Formats: sequence, C-alpha cells, structure tokens
Amino acid sequence: MRNIHNKINYPDSREISWQIVHNVLATNDVLYRHHISRSPNCACCPLVETTAHLFLDCWIAKPVWQEIEALLKCFANDKFRLLLDYRAVLFNIIPPPFRKRLNNLAIILINLGKNIIWEVRGLVKFENRHFSSAQISALTLARIRQRIRTDQYLMSVEGFFSLWLRQPSGVRLGADGDIVLCLPRKPTCF
Ligand SMILES: [Zn+2]
Repeated sequence: MRNIHNKINYPDSREISWQIVHNVLATNDVLYRHHISRSPNCACCPLVETTAHLFLDCWIAKPVWQEIEALLKCFANDKFRLLLDYRAVLFNIIPPPFRKRLNNLAIILINLGKNIIWEVRGLVKFENRHFSSAQISALTLARIRQRIRTDQYLMSVEGFFSLWLRQPSGVRLGADGDIVLCLPRKPTCF
C-alpha cells in the first residue's frame, strides 16, 4: 500500500487509486449492484464495467498505457520494460529492478493514467462525448506534459531535474521552456 499513499501523487489520483484498491470506485458494476445504475455495462463498450475491465481491458485504456509504457521506456534507457499488468495498474505494485526514480515515475504515470481513463469514461458516460484512440493518446500526452509543468512549479529545481530531466529521460525542455516528450516517432498511417 506504500505506493498508494506516496506523497509524489496529488490528492485526486491517490483517491482513485485508494478507491480501486478497496474496490469502492463507482464503476457501473458497483452502481448496478446497489441499484443505482440500470446496467452494469461499460460506458465505452458493451462489456461489464469492473475496475479491471475499465483500467486494463477496455479499449479506452490501451492508448493511455501505450503512451505511458513508451515514455517509461525512455527513462529506463530501453534496458527493461515495465509490464503494465493488473498488479502495476490496479495495485501500484512495481516489480524490481525498478529502483527509486523509475519507481516514482512509474507510480506518477500509472496514477495519472488511471485519472485520464476515469476522465474519458466520465466524458463518455455523462457528456456523451466520443473519442478515438488517437484522441485518447493525445489527451494522455497533454496530461503528462501538464503534470510535468506542475512539478516544475511545485518542486525544487534539483528535485525536478533529477526526477524528470536527468538522463536517461523521456523529457526535455524546449527552447522556449515548454515541455517536450521525446517519444519514439510512430509510423504514420495512411
Ligand atoms: Zn469498456
């Protein structure tokens, strides 16, 4: 549970992680059991919306974890790769050899990922919004940049540098000070 209460996470993401671990997040299967929702099905696909489904198996989760996995790989110098499985995603359990910095980054990004998935699910469910995988990818990258920007203002210069910018890193500051994510270029689809 240590990683759930890790102070590197801001309160809202701790909240979602805590609710997932204690299985009290208001997914549709829970709402249905409590007669609050008319259907246990996912807001984004026809399957039952459990936390495992929404945060791991649903199509809306895939682009989020793809971007986060790719970014984490840059911080690990491509040496090893964190498998974002149910233990990592639902319980924030990061296996070795993810040492302190990578562990912190993994937890930050996994919790951010859960927030993004919950945000997309809310927009689909309550505002009838439609998303493509590409839009979810773009939203994920925007939220990651936002998070890094927030850290830049809240952390000490040294703390921010050693967490986000020290090599190997998937992040650099652009010429005008904006946050640039150095993700591998994706093949263009025609
Ligand atoms: Zn779904």
